[in-house]
Amino acid sequence: MKLIFLGPPGAGKGTLAAGAVDILKVPHVSTGNIFRGAIAARSELGLRVKSILDSGKLVDDETTVALVRERLAGDDASGGYILDGFPRTIPQAEALAGFSAVDRVVNFDIPDEAVLERLGGRRTCKNCGALFHVLFGKPRREGFCDSCGGELFIRDDDREEAVAERLEVYRKQTAPLIGYYRKKGLLLDVDARPGAEIVLENFRKVLGI
Ligand code: AMP
Repeated sequence: MKLIFLGPPGAGKGTLAAGAVDILKVPHVSTGNIFRGAIAARSELGLRVKSILDSGKLVDDETTVALVRERLAGDDASGGYILDGFPRTIPQAEALAGFSAVDRVVNFDIPDEAVLERLGGRRTCKNCGALFHVLFGKPRREGFCDSCGGELFIRDDDREEAVAERLEVYRKQTAPLIGYYRKKGLLLDVDARPGAEIVLENFRKVLGI
């Protein structure tokens, strides 16, 4: 199944995707994780996008589309994928339609106050990108990842000013995708306010899996 996860930052798309890949047996393709990996590796791409990610703004469509196109050409994505964080603009959605036909777009719906609370307490593993929360998803050992033992940190873009900027960018550039995919009859809404387990259950229900 070819899925897009849509929703504001902090809606829980990354956490949900981690659960959904186990069920669907398709790769989780997160453009945010790809960019952060490039930054950690200090590659040419990483050096170019670091300040953009830190500010909460978007990387240009051309760079992002090229990355996704290459990633989806991988053998492991031939049977399906979960796209998390892409597309984020109408031009990205139009470009995607040119090289892959998605089956469903899942819209994780959540109010701004909940986003602010979630992102404020979010901790990310430096090594594998796994997500934790100081209130809602504590790691077993404080400061360290349950999956790989890597050190947890606060992403620069989870700091207050960047979160405000990301929400603004979401409203202006990404939220129009809800109407875009609804018109195409592809959109499914999932209430993203409850805890991850309930959201995963609701996700299964709307998809009928
Ligand atoms: P995320 O982990 O999805 O919140 O993405 C983190 C950051 O990576 C975003 O704030 C953007 O700077 C960049 N990014 C991720 N996906 C995209 C995209 N589809 N288009 C442009 N920039 C992106």
